[in-house]
Formats: sequence, C-alpha cells, structure tokens
Amino acid sequence: MAQFDVDLFVIGAGSGGVRASRIAGGHGAKVLVAEEFRIGGTCVIRGCIPKKLYVYASRFVDDYEDAVGYGWSFPQKPTFDWTKLVAAKEKEITRLSGLYQKGVEGVGGSIVQSRAEIEDEHTVRLLNDGRKITAKYILVATGGSPTLVPEIPGIEHAISSNEVFDLKHLPASMLIVGGGFIAVEFASVFTRLGTKVTQVMRADNVLRGFDEDLRTGLHEGLNHAGVTTRFGVLPSKIAKQPNGLLSATFSDGTTGEFEQVLVATGRHPHTQGLGLEKAGVQLDKVGAVKVDDYSRTNVPSIYAVGDVTNRINLTPVAVREGHAFADTVFGGKDVKVDHSNVASAVFSTPEIGTVGLTEAQARDAFDIVDIYRATFRPLKATLSGRTERMMMKIVVDGKSDRVLGVHILGHDAGEMAQLLGIAVKMRATKADFDATMAVHPTAAEELVTMRTRTVRYEK
Ligand code: NDP
Repeated sequence: MAQFDVDLFVIGAGSGGVRASRIAGGHGAKVLVAEEFRIGGTCVIRGCIPKKLYVYASRFVDDYEDAVGYGWSFPQKPTFDWTKLVAAKEKEITRLSGLYQKGVEGVGGSIVQSRAEIEDEHTVRLLNDGRKITAKYILVATGGSPTLVPEIPGIEHAISSNEVFDLKHLPASMLIVGGGFIAVEFASVFTRLGTKVTQVMRADNVLRGFDEDLRTGLHEGLNHAGVTTRFGVLPSKIAKQPNGLLSATFSDGTTGEFEQVLVATGRHPHTQGLGLEKAGVQLDKVGAVKVDDYSRTNVPSIYAVGDVTNRINLTPVAVREGHAFADTVFGGKDVKVDHSNVASAVFSTPEIGTVGLTEAQARDAFDIVDIYRATFRPLKATLSGRTERMMMKIVVDGKSDRVLGVHILGHDAGEMAQLLGIAVKMRATKADFDATMAVHPTAAEELVTMRTRTVRYEK
C-alpha cells in the first residue's frame, strides 16, 4: 500500500498551482488540487485576462476618434454596452478555466472544489467534506488578496479588483484609491468607457518604483484622457448617501461624491487560516511564505510558489516557479528560477513596457550611467490629429556599454518589452542595439536608431 494518498497536494488552482500540477503529473506524480473559488486563480478569473479584455474594450474609444482622421465617418455615435462586455468576458474566462481543469486532468490529476487546510507536514484537510488527504509533498499556491487600506470608516462600501469586473452597470463616477498597477489600469479603462474618474494616492506620483520618465508621462496621459489625479491625498471617511452615492471626505478636508469607490492599495499573500503555523511553516513579516531558491519552505515536504511567496508578483513568474518546482521534485532535475531582469507591462493607456534598471537604480549601482531618450509623435497620430507622444529610454552602463534597462511609454510598449527582455537578459550592449537594422516604419525602430546620448552621469 502506498505510504501517502497522493504524491502532490496542491492548494490553489491558479497559474502557479496548475502549472506545477500539470508538470508533476507529466512526470508521473499522482496529483490532487484543491480550489475554493474558481479554477484559474486571480489571473484568469479577476486579474490579467479580464483586465486586458477590458483594456481592449476601452481603447476602441480612441480608435473611433482616430479613424475620422483617416477618412472614416460614423453617421451615429458609437455606443457601448457594459453588460455585453461583462457577459463576453465571463464566457471567455469560463472557457479558460475549463482549459486549466482539462490540463490537470489530462495528466491524470484531479481538482476538488474545496477550501483546504494543512493539518501537518504531510496531511491536508478538505473543508467541504472533512476528508483528510495525506501527501508526500504539499504545494501552497494560494496567491494573494486585495488589501483594503486605509482602514477608514465606511471602507466596507468600497470595492476591490475582485468586484470591479462584475459591476451591474457602468458607474457614472468612480473614486480610485491608489497609484499602483491596478489603479492606473482601471483609471485608464473606466475614463475611456465614460466614467468620470478621480484617482487619489498618498505618493507624489503614480507607479512608485518605476522610471521617473514613465511616471511623468503616464500621469500626463491619464490627465489628458480625463482622469483627475490628486497626490498626497487619501480618503479619511466614506459614507453611503440616501441616494445610493458614496460621499468621501479626504485627508485635506475636501469632499466628493462617487457612484463607486475602488480601492487598489496593494495585495497581500493569502496565508491566513491555511494551517501553515500548525505545520511549522515560516512566514516573513508581511505574511508571505518564506522559501529557498527551489521554492521549498523550512518544512522539507512543503513548497510554495507564486504571489503567496511575494517574490515578484506576476503570473509568468508564478508559472515558472511552479514548473521549476515540479521539475525539481518530480522530474529529477534541480531547476532554480532566475528572478533578474523580468520584463513587465502596465496596461494603462498609455501603456508601459519595462525591463531592467530604472535610471535612478542604475545611478545608485554604477559609476557611469548613460541615458538615451527619445520622445516623438507616433506616425498613426499624424493623421488622427492626436497629440500623444511616445517615450523610449535606454539606460546604459557607461563603462561596459551594457544596456541595463529599457523603458517605453506608448502603443504596444508591453509587446516591445517582451522582446527587449531577451536582449537585456543576454546582456546586450548599446553597440548591439546600434548594430541592429531598423524595421521601418515602426515606433520600435527608435530603439536601434538613438545615437545621441541625452545625458551622462558620473559618480
Ligand atoms: P501596487 O503595489 O502596484 O500599488 C499599491 C498602491 O497602493 C500604491 O499606490 C501604494 O502607494 C498604495 N498603498 C499601499 N499601502 C498603502 C496604504 N497603507 N495607504 C495608502 N496607500 C497605500 O499594488 P496593486 O494593488 O496596484 O497591484 C498589486 C500587484 O498586482 C502589483 O504589485 C503587481 O505585482 C500585480 N499586478 C500586475 C499587473 C501587470 O503586470 N500589468 C496588473 C495588476 C496587478 P505608494 O506608491 O505610496 O507605495
């Protein structure tokens, strides 16, 4: 008789957990996955995928406007139906969720719809029927949850990114609290769909930690699209009015009325109530599971991947960590995940694509830093009459000529960042960029045609 019911018990059927299950199953492991919500996790159900679909939906507004400059006319003003978008989104994420399930089942694994709690280092209890399952290995892949701060009176009237996708109707007005990824993406989406958006944050600009030129350019882009941004301001109270609107009082004493308040002030690792303490699994000071380079916790039979470990909270990172875990534990080859130079995108409008060091980070770490920066009006904007500008910036180590970082603001920045990630990962030099022939006419050609250094910083 087998010593354990299963080889691998995975808690959480999100991107990391599902990838780990599929690969472990492919290596011959008997896998059971428990998911308390919907298969697919944050990314598929209420994160990256539906968000990107809503971003596409919102950008048609710009496309309709641009088309006029290219000879199109619309006898009737185009109209938008929020409920149709929500329904279409729902259909697509249900399809993807089904594919995730099939992926696990295709390698002989099973998924059970239940919350699961760890009893000890080899036992997990399913809360739906109380069954206790023993497992040789347990993988915690429970992701994270929105953090609703500041904890002010009336915060319970606010929604998070968990609820925003399925609002019953498009709100006429929205207060967005926060200046991070989620806040700027939804500010961009809702303002284009016709909602009057006010965005408040404690910082003095959006996207703390990003290159300053991106932050400034995005702030201008948001304002240009109609978003009111207020810095150094947070709500201190939210109250529901008899007319259903939410009145917010701000830290500077001003007030405002909004149909919805969306709080996007970060996410925290989902570790509470999982029984991790019973098994002796160590958490860090923000409550994330502490793991080594192989995603192993201090308890040898328990591993963790993805946002619950709070390393880099991005889907492709969770996927890579899950894959590496399964190859290491079940595939007979030790695989570490390289968390350096991870390219990423912010699907605000204008969009951001970025990889490597910001100008500020490079100046801290290197003696000589060369900056190449170009801002220009994209070709498409000429006939459309749009005043938008694109920004591209290359950060170079002045001594070795190595490209340390590339930052782009504008159309398709995310697509460009993916390819730039390869070049930066391969330690390409500025001379390599210069030696690459341009693709004309594209916006991206600017990346290989910038010859004149904007500024050199020397320590
Ligand atoms: P972010 O960490 O990006 O931003 C959090 C925001 O909340 C910041 O503006 C921060 O302010 C503010 N904040 C944090 N704590 C407080 C507080 N106590 N009081 C007031 N304001 C506070 O988190 P998001 O929620 O936007 O997104 C969560 C994560 O999800 C991201 O970090 C990212 O990893 C992932 N994500 C990735 C996306 C992508 O790849 N395109 C899209 C969406 C999410 P301050 O700047 O002052 O610190």
